[in-house]
Amino acid sequence: MSLNLLPMANQDLQFQVTRNENAASPEERAQVLENPGFGQHFTDHMVDICWSERGGWHRPRVQPYGPIQLDPAAAVLHYAQEVFEGLKAYRHADGSIWTFRPEANAARMQRSAKRLALPELPTEYFLDSLAQLIAVDGDWVPSQAETSLYLRPFMFAKEAFLGVRPAKKVNYYVIASPAGAYFHGGVTPVSIWLSTTYTRAGHGGMGQAKTGGNYAASLVAQQEAYAHNCAQVLFLDAQEGRYLEELGGMNVVLVKKDGTLITPDSDSILEGITVDSVLTLARDRGHRVEQRPVTIDEWRDGVASGDIVEAFACGTAAVITPIAEIKAADGRGIVMPEVSDRLAMSLRAELTGIQYGRVEDRHGWLHRLDA
Ligand SMILES: *Cc1c(COP(=O)(O)O)cnc(C)c1O
Repeated sequence: MSLNLLPMANQDLQFQVTRNENAASPEERAQVLENPGFGQHFTDHMVDICWSERGGWHRPRVQPYGPIQLDPAAAVLHYAQEVFEGLKAYRHADGSIWTFRPEANAARMQRSAKRLALPELPTEYFLDSLAQLIAVDGDWVPSQAETSLYLRPFMFAKEAFLGVRPAKKVNYYVIASPAGAYFHGGVTPVSIWLSTTYTRAGHGGMGQAKTGGNYAASLVAQQEAYAHNCAQVLFLDAQEGRYLEELGGMNVVLVKKDGTLITPDSDSILEGITVDSVLTLARDRGHRVEQRPVTIDEWRDGVASGDIVEAFACGTAAVITPIAEIKAADGRGIVMPEVSDRLAMSLRAELTGIQYGRVEDRHGWLHRLDA
């Protein structure tokens, strides 16, 4: 008798490719790529890999993009056992297609999966899944300035079972969506709503996992933000309600007058790859970087004394977004000073320069997808 409960990590995954008979015509695709927006249009194919407790990862496929058949008792629909990732494919001037630090996304997805009691997808499979999708849908990577193809890997509990335990059947998918320039006509600083009613994650919770549940927890606060004419919401720690955590889906950085960058440290913040890259570029330039607990009072007092001069948010979708103002229910908001030469904008230019192949990739962050 042999019991093999280990994922078959050594076995090469041979993708079976089924072409989409109803793929968009070159004209239809060109029309979408002219003004793609964000997350509204999808490419012709998707990746699908199965996992089962006994068989490990198996049946890797590239198939036509389309609805997924789910049993109404599929565990994800009831207990939210799900994780996801987000990264972009960039077209360089010579036509080649690249992505940015995908090994970091693969590793983060493994950490997220572990927290949600999901199987860990080996890094080689993650990287291969992106290349396989680009091999059939590479023409969907747009080429205008600041555009990209957003890649969305995700994994969820597919087993039909209403008992509460980790699912024994899971599927991993990758879908892709062309993305337009996030900011049209220049980057505009945004207003942020400080949530003092809701938190997104707590000590020992799922804050460090990229999982839909954290987003579900953030939506009502996001609604409050919209009601106050704010683009995003800033969460504080769940325990004391004093320490900065992050926005619903972006990390926060403060900049001091002396050039020091400060980003909050806590075990309930999602470890962003953008913030990590931005802080690395800043260190390269000789800036001091502090990763430590930061209170909302330190931010407010720092702005009042002139010690804190900039604040910005970072994430894959918008890269870097300067923060103009924090609005709060108690009226004790923070208005950031007007700055002509923002460090945020210069770091943004350097990071996007690397991503689009215009600036030297000193750290080996780029990974080619179409070769
Ligand atoms: C994805 C995400 C971020 C940003 O991470 P990047 O790797 O920089 O895109 C920040 N916070 C949350 C909650 C996220 O889900």
